[in-house]
Amino acid sequence: MKTKVAINGYGTIGKRVADAVAAQDDMEVVGVVKTRPTIEAKFAIAKNYPLYVTEVSKKQAFVDADIPIAGTLDDLLAKADIVVDCAPGKLGAENKKIYETKGIKAIFQGGEKEGVADASFNAQNNFRNCIGKQFIRVVSCNTTGLCRTLGEINRTFGVKKARVVLMRRGPDPGDSKKGPVNAIVPNPATVPSHHGPDVNSVLPDMKIVTSAVIVPTTLMHMHSVMVELEKEATTNEVKELFERAPRIITVRAKEGIESTAQIMEYARDAGRSRSDLNEIAVWEESINVLGNELFYMQAIHQESDVVPENIDAIRAMTGLTEDAVRSMIKTDTALKLKKWW
Ligand code: NAD
Repeated sequence: MKTKVAINGYGTIGKRVADAVAAQDDMEVVGVVKTRPTIEAKFAIAKNYPLYVTEVSKKQAFVDADIPIAGTLDDLLAKADIVVDCAPGKLGAENKKIYETKGIKAIFQGGEKEGVADASFNAQNNFRNCIGKQFIRVVSCNTTGLCRTLGEINRTFGVKKARVVLMRRGPDPGDSKKGPVNAIVPNPATVPSHHGPDVNSVLPDMKIVTSAVIVPTTLMHMHSVMVELEKEATTNEVKELFERAPRIITVRAKEGIESTAQIMEYARDAGRSRSDLNEIAVWEESINVLGNELFYMQAIHQESDVVPENIDAIRAMTGLTEDAVRSMIKTDTALKLKKWW
């Protein structure tokens, strides 16, 4: 029997999580929830995802747009084993009240505060802590990227302290309302930013301080990472570590990947759905150990790196497996990601 998954919120993250669930052989999409009859609603129907509305009052707009509706969120939750909440940030905390009333397990996204869930999740680092939990939060795209690479470094060489400057994309590519158009915005203007404490929600002992700016691009985020190591390491050892690590790829400027633009082109050429890159891309040339300090630069595809994490979180919470590696291999095989095992 497949685990029945509901997706509440069918936008940037929700539509990707739905496709990733549909690609697995141990779970299925029992429905997706939308608030407005946009073109995404028509695509959901075209993909045979039963379409639900958040509440009865939203139904008429879909009837007027000739888009068939299977029912309301309440109807959908009655059919599901678990719901993945992909509503805009902060709305998940509101939706949690509904999930509590229904007694259904729920996964929240990184736009929610840490306290919304029993635990924060990153498959490589704390799958076991999330087994059987009712509410978990898949950390944000930036935090996911930091947990993946810093987690690997910490397990192998030990991290004495990490310092990271995050250059964050403005809006997502499909968003025409937000900026900045011609500015670099300290966000927040205070240091440290919230990203370090968010990493600590998964890796509590990591000594990390972060600062962040927003830049006028839509493609990806970029991190400049500086790490003081506990143990001796060589540049080559770190390169090899990232080569064999799950959900991390190394890219090379000398092969023409000189910016986030070429990383997205790489994802298109690799035939990735929506030109997504679920892995974290580390520039091989940027990896450098000087004394006991490690430096590297990594790019984060904000729209997709959290998607495989949602799939593994479903397995951890619903008891499909207690083995993180087994789950990650299953997820990554179905999504045709880098073969690291
Ligand atoms: P989005 O705005 O692209 O999509 C949200 C969807 O939810 C829309 O279809 C909207 O119509 C629908 N919606 C609105 N109100 C709703 C409600 N009350 N109940 C259910 N659905 C509702 O948002 P997104 O970018 O997919 O973000 C979703 C979550 O994922 C947020 O917590 C965000 O912080 C997080 N996240 C986003 C990104 C990213 O780059 N976009 C990356 C990682 C995590």
